Amino acid sequence: MATNDLLDFVKLRNAHEPEFLQAVEEVALSVLPALEKHADLRKLKIIERITEPERLISFRVTWLDDKGETQINRGYRVQMNSAIGPYKGGLRFHPSVNQSVLKFLAFEQIFKNALTGVPMGGGKGGSDFDPKGKSENEIMKFCQAFMSELARHIGHRLDVPAGDIGVGGREIGYLFGAYKKIRNEFTGVLTGKGIGWGGSLVRPEATGYGLVYFAENMLQTKKESLKNKVCLVSGSGNVAQYAIEKLIQLGAKVVTASDSNGYVYDEAGFTVEKLAFLMDLKNNKRGRIKEYAEKFKNVVYKDIDDKADHNPLWSIKADCAFPCATQNEVNEKDANNLVKNGVKLLGEGSNMPTTPEAINVLIDNGIMYAPGKASNAGGVATSGLEMTQNFMGTNWTRQEVDAKLVDIMKNIHETCLAAAAAYGKPGNYMHGANIAGFLKVARAMQAQGV
Ligand code: GLU
Repeated sequence: MATNDLLDFVKLRNAHEPEFLQAVEEVALSVLPALEKHADLRKLKIIERITEPERLISFRVTWLDDKGETQINRGYRVQMNSAIGPYKGGLRFHPSVNQSVLKFLAFEQIFKNALTGVPMGGGKGGSDFDPKGKSENEIMKFCQAFMSELARHIGHRLDVPAGDIGVGGREIGYLFGAYKKIRNEFTGVLTGKGIGWGGSLVRPEATGYGLVYFAENMLQTKKESLKNKVCLVSGSGNVAQYAIEKLIQLGAKVVTASDSNGYVYDEAGFTVEKLAFLMDLKNNKRGRIKEYAEKFKNVVYKDIDDKADHNPLWSIKADCAFPCATQNEVNEKDANNLVKNGVKLLGEGSNMPTTPEAINVLIDNGIMYAPGKASNAGGVATSGLEMTQNFMGTNWTRQEVDAKLVDIMKNIHETCLAAAAAYGKPGNYMHGANIAGFLKVARAMQAQGV
């Protein structure tokens, strides 16, 4: 069977959605051996069905800025698949948000959520609203306007959004407050809530920590560990911050971080104190990464040129790389630079940061490659733990949640390796993650009928 047969239908229906098609193509290619083995699933047209959102909501968001002017944005919620649980996935507020980006993210979320072992379907949402430069009041007004429409489409047993790029604890608070007023109910309808009002300990740290736990599991298969490894991290938001924190705790040396303007190279490595400065800078002062280089000695700052054919951050000599910024941030040239500079492992903290050509370069050169749907699943997994605590009306301790997160990442790692081996791709985490996630959801769809 050729992938063409599988993809023609999807390509025709989504011709103008490049990010979505990129994500679909990777999964379709990976699951071919599974579809060949399980002809029943092919016959049921699972690929054709799973690539069509169960429901896609697009809505107008109007709000008044501080000058009293009317602003218009577009809001979305993609309810992609509910075969194994209520829709679950973050909200992204960023000018690059459009239907293609959210469909790719919702599609990835189906398999990621399936891999966690927690019963959650796949969804994603957001808006082209740009939080950069907005006042506190404008952020609150926008969140309230956004929720005034979204509220009718979500619910704690139906669809449970969370944060993503541009949506952190502050935004979840405003969104939750608005939902509570509109629906007159206090439920766990969003995750990433504050600790005093239904949130879970370790949720803010979970994506970054989980990424590092996953990388440690990968290295253990080669009898190695992260201790003394030189690590490149991109991004400086929630995922990057806690990945850096856990890497430092495990004895690795983190030498980079970045934002949309540029990156810092700190040859001596981030310390706990330097990281505290970065967190304060990004989270409280909403500053730029450049200020890190101005504050500490011997740190190099370089602008990142959007139009350049590669990102110089990935040309620095290192052992491990952790892209934690956004999609398609590592291209073929970057991958070749990583290979040239001795990188042995790349773990994705962001969703789909590595282009298909770059993935091929990494795999062909024997670099251990962890796809985001496996390596960054700790975030949504801990959201699942937050939902469970909300349903039970209880709060677990930091140790309890962290121990569960460690276990979940270990299980995902084992699941990926087992599926990869069973379908003729031993050691290939990308194929393993895609096949294991796909089969779980496909079997549920099969059981539930057409
Ligand atoms: N936005 C995160 C992700 O990409 C977390 C989603 C959630 O917690 O629901 O997985």
